[in-house]
Amino acid sequence: MTDTSADLVILGGGSGGYAAAFRAAELGLSVTLIEKDKLGGTCLHRGCIPTKALLHAAEVADETREAEAVGVKAAFEGIDIAGVNKYKDGIVARLYKGLQGLAKAHKVNLVEGSGTFVGGTTVEVDGTRYTGKNVILATGSYSRTLPGLELGGRIIASEQALSLDYVPKKVVVLGGGVIGVEFASVWASFGVDVTIVEALPRLVPNEDEFASKQLERAFRRRKIAFKTGVKFTGAKQDDNGVSVSLESGETIEADLLLVAVGRGPNSAGHGYEEAGVKIERGFVLTDERLRTNLPNVYAVGDIVPGLQLAHRGFQQGIFVAEEIAGQNPRVIDESGIPRVTYSHPEVASVGLTESQAKDKYGSDVTTFTYDLGGNGKSQILKTSGGVKLVKAPDGPVVGVHMVGDRVGELIGEAQLIYSWEAFPEDVAPLIHAHPTQTEALGEAFLALAGKPLHVHS
Ligand SMILES: Cc1cc2nc3c(=O)[nH]c(=O)nc-3n(C[C@H](O)[C@H](O)[C@H](O)COP(=O)(O)OP(=O)(O)OC[C@H]3O[C@@H](n4cnc5c(N)ncnc54)[C@H](O)[C@@H]3O)c2cc1C
Repeated sequence: MTDTSADLVILGGGSGGYAAAFRAAELGLSVTLIEKDKLGGTCLHRGCIPTKALLHAAEVADETREAEAVGVKAAFEGIDIAGVNKYKDGIVARLYKGLQGLAKAHKVNLVEGSGTFVGGTTVEVDGTRYTGKNVILATGSYSRTLPGLELGGRIIASEQALSLDYVPKKVVVLGGGVIGVEFASVWASFGVDVTIVEALPRLVPNEDEFASKQLERAFRRRKIAFKTGVKFTGAKQDDNGVSVSLESGETIEADLLLVAVGRGPNSAGHGYEEAGVKIERGFVLTDERLRTNLPNVYAVGDIVPGLQLAHRGFQQGIFVAEEIAGQNPRVIDESGIPRVTYSHPEVASVGLTESQAKDKYGSDVTTFTYDLGGNGKSQILKTSGGVKLVKAPDGPVVGVHMVGDRVGELIGEAQLIYSWEAFPEDVAPLIHAHPTQTEALGEAFLALAGKPLHVHS
């Protein structure tokens, strides 16, 4: 058994792991990164990037169908799924190549294989031990299912949904969170008859109620069926289809059932528990500096409780690299992490929802909602929705919530406003280019600062 040492050994080369590797290398540390599959992890190969490629193809399909409404002659002939997949896979392949090049440029020692954390600061891969001065656990997450609901055949998770080689006629989506809503949106644009089943009372239940209402209204217009507050009780499949039963007694027949009920932490089978890493409900527990209970062992990304988002993983990876290098980085504010659901329309938010703000600051929280009906660019794009601001009593804006096509692109400004704890009076004098959707944010701030411009009272 050989033993190879480095300043830092990282287990898992997804968003969290590779960000830590690159930053640590930039800071002059020697890094061993262990990955059993492909560098880039879920986000690049089975998550963020391929889903957004599908969503873009879906947008082009919708635009083609609706071209006449803006005086352009075009005929929508259908979806060539092989062509869609080629486009999607091409993007992933290019980014993957780029990432491999970056790993090389950073002189990261990339070890291919499945690693086991054997305690101390050592990870073993196929009989070779890699010992670091520090170790980062970054093994990510997997698609969860419900008890008694086995994945397979017509019952699929997002991984299979991303690589279908046909367009189904009818799909039931179990789960109205981000992943379920994004796939429902893609399939509806591809002409699929979609029904979402969500046990909680509303779609995107982690978002502000305003966002759920707006999204539900838009989905109704798009004829995406959804049943909220309804529990799933079982599914049966055969050669012809899948039959999905609900607690209400109703059954829905479909070609496929997509199970999108969340992602579980991938923390079992890698030696964590055996080595004494503190784990709760499968998640690796850390303090705010991302230290586990074991000395010099950190954890980042989806295995750590909190928002399971790629940019959180990146930031945590960077944080730990800087921490190890002695730079004393600032603790990450979890509620400052921007969240975007890339459906048609998009939902984007940062900070607290109105109800979270009321729990924290009491009932004197102020809100203002600006309707995209008054925003020129949104009218040009034929999108509807709005921007809602949540303000602490005598304090800054603590939450920004937006719904509408392309509002995900506005989250950068919203995030700066939140993170800099801006008051409406700070933002109101800032000029927003006309006509852009950023003006909707500007208008909302003008109104909260007491000087509304394009607002009907
Ligand atoms: C369908 C879908 C869409 C998504 N869309 C978005 C989005 O638009 N925006 C966003 O921010 N987030 C999105 N996410 C979430 C995002 O993909 C994750 O938050 C992110 O990938 C987490 O990064 P990670 O490094 O923690 O884990 P992962 O990316 O899962 O990486 C973990 C890596 O560890 C490797 N590994 C595991 N065990 C071992 C072992 N024992 N030895 C060696 N290697 C191992 C795995 O092969 C994997 O490559 C999406 C997820 C899904 C499923």
